[in-house]
Amino acid sequence: MPYETIIGLEIHVQLKTKSKMFCGCPNEAEPKEPNQNVCPVCMGHPGVLPTINKQAVEWTIMSGQALHCDIPTESKFDRKNYFYPDLPKGYQISQYDKPLCGEGYLEIKDDGETKKIELERIHLEEDAGKLLHPDGANYSLVDYNRASTPLMEIVTKPDIRAPQEARVFLQKLRKILLYIGVSNADMEKGQLRCDANISLRPEGAKELLPKTEIKNLNSFKAVEQALLYEVGRQTEVLDAGKELHQATRGWNDDLSETVEQRTKEGEADYRYFPDPDLPPLTFTKEQLDKIKQGLPELPEERRERLEKQFGLKSEEAEMLVDDRAVGEFFENVISEAQEWINSFEGKDEVLSEEAQKVIKQTFNWITSPLFKLLNKEGISLADCKITAENFAELMAMIHEGKVNSSAAEKVLEVMFAKGSDPSQVVEELDLAQLGDSDELSGIIDKVIADNPGPVEDYKAGKENALQFMVGQVMAATKGKADPQVAGEALKKKIS
Ligand SMILES: [Zn+2]
Repeated sequence: MPYETIIGLEIHVQLKTKSKMFCGCPNEAEPKEPNQNVCPVCMGHPGVLPTINKQAVEWTIMSGQALHCDIPTESKFDRKNYFYPDLPKGYQISQYDKPLCGEGYLEIKDDGETKKIELERIHLEEDAGKLLHPDGANYSLVDYNRASTPLMEIVTKPDIRAPQEARVFLQKLRKILLYIGVSNADMEKGQLRCDANISLRPEGAKELLPKTEIKNLNSFKAVEQALLYEVGRQTEVLDAGKELHQATRGWNDDLSETVEQRTKEGEADYRYFPDPDLPPLTFTKEQLDKIKQGLPELPEERRERLEKQFGLKSEEAEMLVDDRAVGEFFENVISEAQEWINSFEGKDEVLSEEAQKVIKQTFNWITSPLFKLLNKEGISLADCKITAENFAELMAMIHEGKVNSSAAEKVLEVMFAKGSDPSQVVEELDLAQLGDSDELSGIIDKVIADNPGPVEDYKAGKENALQFMVGQVMAATKGKADPQVAGEALKKKIS
């Protein structure tokens, strides 16, 4: 029987605030020693009072604003009560019925179709610590460095209809979070964690069958694969005429299958109640507007602007916005080159042909040779030593014919390794292109004198012979000649 797949996601995002959610302990991504960032507040000692981290609240609201959420003017924190060794207080401060952000949405593009995935809410809570189970030991260790660090939870409505859609949604969400700068959102490091709820229903039916919750998926690939596996498993159970029961499962990467864990506790078990130590939050419209003003340009907006402003194709602009740093680098290079581009009689409205060429050239050099170097070293542009100013200078040298493209690639490699100035590299490596100079003229005379056969062949109409002589010139100049200039000069001299 054909079934429809219904998927909803709960995404936990570690906020990169300086301090923890309710105390002054550092919120470090990778602390050196276990239990170094702890204090009586985050350890839940009796009589201590928590204080709300303003930055975490503002960043959660800002994330909601980027995701078109309703932002209520009132919110509060609640205690979610349960006992677990990594939870020192015996309860977690979370938000129950008054989250910081209400309903919103995110539009995704999948297979060329645009689809709106609605969000249920975004709330703010504190993270738990970490349990460590040393190999072969009959005990466990607990590290509270992560305990009470700010954790934002984004909950979608059951709007996702396919495993691939879930992955596309997550990738887009992550990009937005990186643009806003609220989290490093590295899934491998657990900074972005995803739980997925999935259930099936016979096509056309209204009622949902019991769902499975897949916990702690830590890569985009795991999300898609675990969901695909569940579609298959649940379909098999139903087709065999058996019944599904509500369950929590984990994804085993090595076995590529989901494994049943424990039965989910109902909401009532947590006995939520408002945290008596924390005041309810109220926001004025002015405060919310001020937070919104802090929102940077988001990937979609940037893509549209780059297309318009620089005459790029949609897929080209997409390559530049994928990583916020890349788009910024591109724009910085262009802005460094602006004065020089303006000298090509570029008008504000319509870019001159020459300016277009420079923009196109810059795009090509970033997305091809530079990306290749970045991939090879496995680093991102943010960690690259090349400055926009130096890159712009290299673009100018290429455009003005001071270096040919194979020499420019060598220059780029040195710039990449050492952060050097391109004109200096050109000088040091003696890579400057020989223009229509005396030196080139002398070399051409010699090539003609040394190759009487090919000269005769060329005169007899064999074009290949000219290519051979251009090759000789390139070899004699160690690749510094411009092949086109050399070809023209050869023709002139021979005739
Ligand atoms: Zn603390």
